[in-house]
Amino acid sequence: MYDPLVDSNPGRSQPHTPSYWVDTAGSPPPDDGPSQGNLEVDVAIIGGGYTGLSCAYHLAREHGVKAVVLEANQTAWGCSGRNGSFARISGGRVPLATLVEKYGRDAAKAYFNEMHQALQTTRDLIRIGDIDCDKQADGVFKVASKAEHVAALKREVGMYNSLLDYPARFVEAGDLQGVHAGAESFGALNMPDGFSMHPLKLAWGIQRMAREAGAKVHPGSPVTDWSSSAGGHRLVTPGGVVTARRVVVATNGYTSRELSPSLTGRILPVHSQIIVTRPLRAQEKAASLPGSDCMFDTRNLLFYYRRLPDDRILFGGRSAVNGRDAENLIHRQRLLDALCRKFPVLNGIQVDYNWGGWVAVTNNSLPHCYQVPGLQNVYTGGGYAGSGVSFSVQTGKRLAQMLSGDSRPTPVPFLHEAPKPFPFQSFLRVGQRMAYAWYRFKDAE
Ligand SMILES: Cc1cc2nc3c(=O)[nH]c(=O)nc-3n(C[C@H](O)[C@H](O)[C@H](O)COP(=O)(O)OP(=O)(O)OC[C@H]3O[C@@H](n4cnc5c(N)ncnc54)[C@H](O)[C@@H]3O)c2cc1C
Repeated sequence: MYDPLVDSNPGRSQPHTPSYWVDTAGSPPPDDGPSQGNLEVDVAIIGGGYTGLSCAYHLAREHGVKAVVLEANQTAWGCSGRNGSFARISGGRVPLATLVEKYGRDAAKAYFNEMHQALQTTRDLIRIGDIDCDKQADGVFKVASKAEHVAALKREVGMYNSLLDYPARFVEAGDLQGVHAGAESFGALNMPDGFSMHPLKLAWGIQRMAREAGAKVHPGSPVTDWSSSAGGHRLVTPGGVVTARRVVVATNGYTSRELSPSLTGRILPVHSQIIVTRPLRAQEKAASLPGSDCMFDTRNLLFYYRRLPDDRILFGGRSAVNGRDAENLIHRQRLLDALCRKFPVLNGIQVDYNWGGWVAVTNNSLPHCYQVPGLQNVYTGGGYAGSGVSFSVQTGKRLAQMLSGDSRPTPVPFLHEAPKPFPFQSFLRVGQRMAYAWYRFKDAE
């Protein structure tokens, strides 16, 4: 499997990794084929996931700029075509209390508003583009997987209510049975906003909208070399050279170390993995997930899960540390064991799908969209830490505003600063391995 910390680029024209989403997405929309010959463009966007496609759409629709998207493989080949499908008020992995403590109340509020708007931007795109992506009803539950997590969840609800004036609520264990049964169900924080959908259909819908607005989308076009001069940026792809006045880097967790020295080390790719079971029978459904809401739990290494429209369960969590180990069946088994611990009725259930991908984590576990220091007219966004479905769509929109002259389109102070490179780069994965072992120990206690 492609490993961004090891390989020089993600390949060329590779098919989507086999998944439930690929099998149920139908046919992809038209694209512009691999980039051919020498092109001179105003804006080139590297990476064809939600960030890149949303940026292309917003640039064309709202700012009259017709960008060219260069995607190494198929559009949405990275996280955008293989994620857990939750569009939530989320971005990054910093708890609300920590945000307030570290950045202050006003910054925490401004960031919450941005995440809230991100969800609305995603909803708006689905509505405006009439994207048929199996959007489900709103409802998100953070479920206490141990009784001792309940007090912290109740405090969190209190912060949402008093600090953000947001109607989160605590659902007692007894009242949770209609949506989440099973053995690890001690109550939950419920957010009324947030929904699931078909992530690949969503990406393809945005691709269609971007092209209809005038952008070009070139799959099979990995940028394999990049040089810059006063005249602009020279991006080499297997089909030819694209010279661009401005560049947006939307490669996120799939950014290789070789793409640009100015980006190296700012993102740690972290593998997340998903299994999908066979469809459940009626009594299995009643004893596991009677509802179809988005669920995640209170573990350090959390699990996310939901019942799909055809009654299968999608269940995901952190897995391998490097690409070499990503296909080791131990990770599939770990997820299955965790699923069956939560819902003992599913013991022995057949797993029909199993895949994973690289989410992007920054040094402060928060996302960013910023002008790249040391490179003229280059912008980038990412670092959503596995919570980037709606936030990447929003970041694409913000990047389009930045290219159009608004250097700080949000009042969130940390969002428009370049994330600091991780220290001790060569030991990152050793550290990650140790952290996982510690969290697994704590979660099992
Ligand atoms: C298993 C899994 C589950 C997840 N679940 C959720 C969830 O439920 N909710 C949520 O909010 N988030 C989730 N995420 C995260 C979310 O999917 C991502 O944050 C989001 O899709 C990021 O979109 P992106 O466009 O920034 O990056 P990506 O979709 O990863 O796109 C980057 C693209 O860049 C391309 N690329 C890289 N290098 C080059 C190059 N040199 N030249 C050209 N192209 C290049 C890659 O091929 C790739 O297609 C999950 C992620 C994974 C992997």
